[in-house]
Amino acid sequence: MMNVIYVDNNATTMVAPEVLEAMMPYFSTYYGNPSSMHSFGGDVAGAIKTARENVANLIGAAPGEIVFTSCGTESDGTAIRAAIESYPDKKHIVTSRVEHPAIKNLYESLSKKGYRATFVPVDGSGRLDIDYLYNSLSEDTAIVSLMWGNNETGVLFPIEEISGEVKSRGILFHTDAVQAVGKISINVTESGVDMLSLSGHKLHAPKGIGALYIRKGTKFSPFMIGGHQESGRRGYDAVSRLRDKLEHALLEKVPNAIVNGDPTSRLPNTTSIAFEYVEGEAILLMMNEHGICASSGSACTSGSLEPSHVLRAMGVPFTAAHGSIRFSLSRYNTEDEINVILQELPPIIERLRELSPFWKEAMEG
Ligand code: PLP
Repeated sequence: MMNVIYVDNNATTMVAPEVLEAMMPYFSTYYGNPSSMHSFGGDVAGAIKTARENVANLIGAAPGEIVFTSCGTESDGTAIRAAIESYPDKKHIVTSRVEHPAIKNLYESLSKKGYRATFVPVDGSGRLDIDYLYNSLSEDTAIVSLMWGNNETGVLFPIEEISGEVKSRGILFHTDAVQAVGKISINVTESGVDMLSLSGHKLHAPKGIGALYIRKGTKFSPFMIGGHQESGRRGYDAVSRLRDKLEHALLEKVPNAIVNGDPTSRLPNTTSIAFEYVEGEAILLMMNEHGICASSGSACTSGSLEPSHVLRAMGVPFTAAHGSIRFSLSRYNTEDEINVILQELPPIIERLRELSPFWKEAMEG
């Protein structure tokens, strides 16, 4: 296999060697049921207890506030469904226009089943229209769910500020922090959120592990699903330095390249760059020839030629949205890899533009 330069970490990440090593015994030696009476199962219960404590520590929660799930999507779905079941008389649900499909599709489906869904807009930099949000809230609002970090652009919503206001009106507040956990410092006690979703495979644990934080006292009957472990470590200063180097150099080397999203409030590992007048898919295919793996949107939207709903909500013009590439780094990326991307990508864009009638037209225009 060709040497791979993996800058698609918002889609999924490599399992960290130490995570794999820590998990291996539970696929072979320690397979007992943690809820059983015998001590063979009891060994597993001890490991789950430790895992729950580790996840809780990562976000400043108490272990009893962590429910394990199978993925971020399940955590999101559980949070929203629990909220509307806990408040059966309330029929209004609120989110943003740039959420991951895990929330977006659920809200769209609920809006066909008698719920009134508000999708709060964002501005051209992907920042939430906070006044619109507050004006939409009413006695009938069951839950507000807003993502912490955007999977496509990395833009961060001011969750701490918003959750205080929403909760002061007696409304439940959930955040999809699947992209944010492990990348920025998060403390659920300080941020005041009622529920928070996270997903293991976005932070170097395997697929199939998620968690939902549910603040103690939240109207919700907790259930326990089996346990797993993961290790959260923060190495994101180094990552943001590499991301910034990549971004700055690409903007310098490639004309008509624009960063999508608010550069001042963003996940440290993510940059979404629009290369105007070229097709993102063509860029991805040509980068792939050099072993460079990036993405033209979130994993779920790539594969379709429609520009992403996130970029559309931000009002990014079609000529730019079509040529947008998301680079999402991890602590395993190296300076050498960034240098390879900087060497290979600018000529790719140049070649594609030579073939693009839109580019020719724009330049002559
Ligand atoms: N929420 C966000 C913001 C995501 O980026 C993703 C995955 O891309 C999910 C939820 C879904 O997580 P999972 O793949 O664990 O179901």
